[in-house]
Amino acid sequence: MLEFNASQIQMGASAPDKAAALALLAGRLIDDGLVAPGYLAGMQAREAQGSTYLGQGVAIPHGTPDTRDQVFHTGVRLIQFPDGVDWGDGQRVYLAIAIAARSDEHLRLLQLLTRALGEGDLSQALREAREPEALVELLQGAPQELALDSQLIGLGLAAEDFDELLWQGARLLKKADCAASGFANSLAQGQPLPLGNGLWWLHSDQAVLRPGLAFVTPAQPLQLHGQSLTGLFCLASLGEAHRRLLERLCDLLIAGQGATFSQATSSRSVLEALGGELPADWPTRCVTLANAHGLHARPAKLLTEIAQSFSGEIRVRLAGEAGQGVSAKSLSRLLGLGARRGQALEFSAEPVIAEDALAALEAAVLDGLGETIEPWVAGAARSELSPADATPSRGKTPAPAAGARLQAVAAAPGIAMGPALVRTAQTFEYSHQGGGLVVELQRLRQALEQVDRHIQRLVESTAEANIREIFTTHRAMLGDPALREEVEARLAEGLSAEAAWSAEIDAAAQQQEALHDALLAERAADLRDVGRRVLAELCGVAAPVEPEQPYILVMDEVAPSDVACLDRQRVAGILTARGGATAHSAIIARTLGIPAVVGGGEAVLALTQGTELLLDGERGLVRVAPDAQTLQQARREREAGLRRRERAHAERLQPAVTGDGHRVEVAANIGASGDTAEAVELGAEAVGLLRTELVFMDHPQAPDQATQESEYRRVLDALDGRPLVVRTLDVGGDKPLPYWPMPAESNPFLGVRGIRLSLQRPDILETQLRALLAAAEGRPLRIMFPMVGAIEEWRAARDLALRLREEIPLADLQLGIMVEVPSAALLAPVLAREVDFFSIGTNDLTQYCLAIDRDHPTLSAQADGLHPAVLRLIGMTVEAAHAQGKWVGVCGELAGDMLAVPLLVGLGVDELSVAPRSIALVKARVRELDYRHSQTLADQALGLESAAAVRALVEEGQ
Ligand code: PEP
Ligand code: MG
Repeated sequence: MLEFNASQIQMGASAPDKAAALALLAGRLIDDGLVAPGYLAGMQAREAQGSTYLGQGVAIPHGTPDTRDQVFHTGVRLIQFPDGVDWGDGQRVYLAIAIAARSDEHLRLLQLLTRALGEGDLSQALREAREPEALVELLQGAPQELALDSQLIGLGLAAEDFDELLWQGARLLKKADCAASGFANSLAQGQPLPLGNGLWWLHSDQAVLRPGLAFVTPAQPLQLHGQSLTGLFCLASLGEAHRRLLERLCDLLIAGQGATFSQATSSRSVLEALGGELPADWPTRCVTLANAHGLHARPAKLLTEIAQSFSGEIRVRLAGEAGQGVSAKSLSRLLGLGARRGQALEFSAEPVIAEDALAALEAAVLDGLGETIEPWVAGAARSELSPADATPSRGKTPAPAAGARLQAVAAAPGIAMGPALVRTAQTFEYSHQGGGLVVELQRLRQALEQVDRHIQRLVESTAEANIREIFTTHRAMLGDPALREEVEARLAEGLSAEAAWSAEIDAAAQQQEALHDALLAERAADLRDVGRRVLAELCGVAAPVEPEQPYILVMDEVAPSDVACLDRQRVAGILTARGGATAHSAIIARTLGIPAVVGGGEAVLALTQGTELLLDGERGLVRVAPDAQTLQQARREREAGLRRRERAHAERLQPAVTGDGHRVEVAANIGASGDTAEAVELGAEAVGLLRTELVFMDHPQAPDQATQESEYRRVLDALDGRPLVVRTLDVGGDKPLPYWPMPAESNPFLGVRGIRLSLQRPDILETQLRALLAAAEGRPLRIMFPMVGAIEEWRAARDLALRLREEIPLADLQLGIMVEVPSAALLAPVLAREVDFFSIGTNDLTQYCLAIDRDHPTLSAQADGLHPAVLRLIGMTVEAAHAQGKWVGVCGELAGDMLAVPLLVGLGVDELSVAPRSIALVKARVRELDYRHSQTLADQALGLESAAAVRALVEEGQ
């Protein structure tokens, strides 16, 4: 179970005291690249807060929440101290297990570890072990008892045949954590053994987690191989754990007591006969855990202390889980529950102490077990797939009236008109009771096949590799045998295909979401997406019929996978209720060249299908059912726009020079190296922002120097002597890499991202810099570091680059920073002395300046880069740079906003780096300008009070 191997264990160590032992353990973690040196302080601080002694001569030292950012990889390292180390409170530790983990993995790891320790005292054996392998065996091979309790007995079950009964038995074993996915299938392949009295025996040792025996009986007697079937024993077999029980069962059968099982009406009688764990008839109490990090060591310890103050047995389990629970007096068992915030703990206690003990435990949990807690609000988590929740929000807010003019956020330029196709959440209605396993299984399979065929068609018809990948993942989810097995088990319980499918998807998605891992949460969204498709297929709920002519797609938010389904010939424009200009949906719409307005408000979802809409993606305007005159005017504008676009395209290779001779460089923002040639063809004078994280995301592990070199060389080759501005890896927080796990952060945008993360892994930054320098081969290279907020960050990164340049010389190298954090803009006069250039990332600069999450579902519409506060930061940056003779670019989305161009030019920005499709238009816009007039306009804008006022000012001046 635990992924220990001998190489992670150091045998025969000695340490005079706990401090020395901690230093040794931290040294192992550091040497093996699991943590940064700062983690030792965290381990020490953690011990000062409370001992990590677990019991049985084992301690589990680990860091504090403050030092989680020092963890690079989750893992454990073990050191054996045969002479023992005094761990305080008279406890001696013979085996210390140093844990490098972030919040949630930490609990999971503890859970695995404590399960492995079992209940017997291993301390002597751990101390005397001579080989690491022996320790591994001890930790993994703690003797396991056969699980057999009331949760594993199912009597009088609705089953139409042997297969259905078998599924039920397997399901009980799985619920009791005895078996994993795949168990039911392997059980079904076994040879059932008749025991007489209509009783049968079946076992499997495949996918077994711990040994357990389930006993199930059908509501109606069944037949198997021409004999009666009144009861079935299903064994999850592991080692010899079941031997004694089997002997006892044989004795009972030989003694003619088979009817005890075949006619059993209570699980108690079965358990009494077999010697299983009898259900205790004890008072219970449920209380929800509200501790932010769940039941981790410190609160658990307090709980054990309270439980220990009562002389009598107290057990606890996660509410709704199978089994008798664990002793509330055992720290290791409590940790083994892996209880998280929001889960309810169900305590049960011997009747004689129950009243006082349960009240004390409940009060302690509600009080936070020594921690400050935010009370848990029930019902915060809801099932997205449940029919009630799938009810669209339509009707809550009235639709805008005919003739209404909505001002929203300009997301992708262009004028579009057409009937509305409103796509809201679908409502699914279905019966929970199925028409029998065979029928429901058949329905489910047909639906899965149908959806799979549909997704396959999407994969084939999608040109974009990343979108194809999303759908390939969806297909894999549909075909996941574990998922199917779970659903089939639910079908065997009598559920309909719809109910079984949605319950399983809901459970699986919730499980992933509960891990608070950004990547897994994304997978959960995919799972729900796939879930909805299959449910729609099963319920015969069709997507709204597409109008004949090109239409305006109206949605709550457009997810990348929605965009992939769009037929660009048919979708004239996109209007969303939520989202802002820098949200994903907007960036994708721009890339695809579909006019888009986002953040229109909930009312747009209430529009009647087919309502005529007019959308201006440049001004962020929407007209509902416009009159003929307005439409006519819009058509003229669109015609003029198209002509302007054609003219701009024809002159795309000419430089962008204002009427009075001021030149502005227009460059391209590139994600993938392969896009460079097209960008040059579209008029790019340089690459102004190469987002290198895409190079990293395209690989299953961090790409090595050679791989990166060839990617960068490809860009430089296509640029043919034009400059390349590269941003070093900008991941972390909201943009994790699969192979670079990061701790969940409550506020990732304010967490470890960009240069902060790179400086924690200088090896990765160094490889990237080496690859860039080597690929340049004398060509103009500008390297910039993302998210710099402090001068030390810049200096550390610069020093590394300069050191490497001594090894890999490059004459035309400039080093700069992205100005994305207000502190960098405010510090620009200081930074400008040291950098070669600035490139302003207005997407982030705006979110940090205005304190609005750029992906915030409702607020991001207000994150407008034309806010005078943001413009002031840009102005300060330019002024500081020019005072030192340095240049400034803008590479955020603002640079491609036609209303922003005159202001950025007026503020003195030297380079605008935009999506390749916008290059020609931006150049054309610059040519229309008069530099002096733009300067005056920018001055006026700086004195205004809001983004709306700035937009109005520029529009007036057009
Ligand atoms: C920015 O923040 O403006 C920027 C260009 O970087 P990104 O959008 O990749 O965060
Ligand atoms: Mg940024």
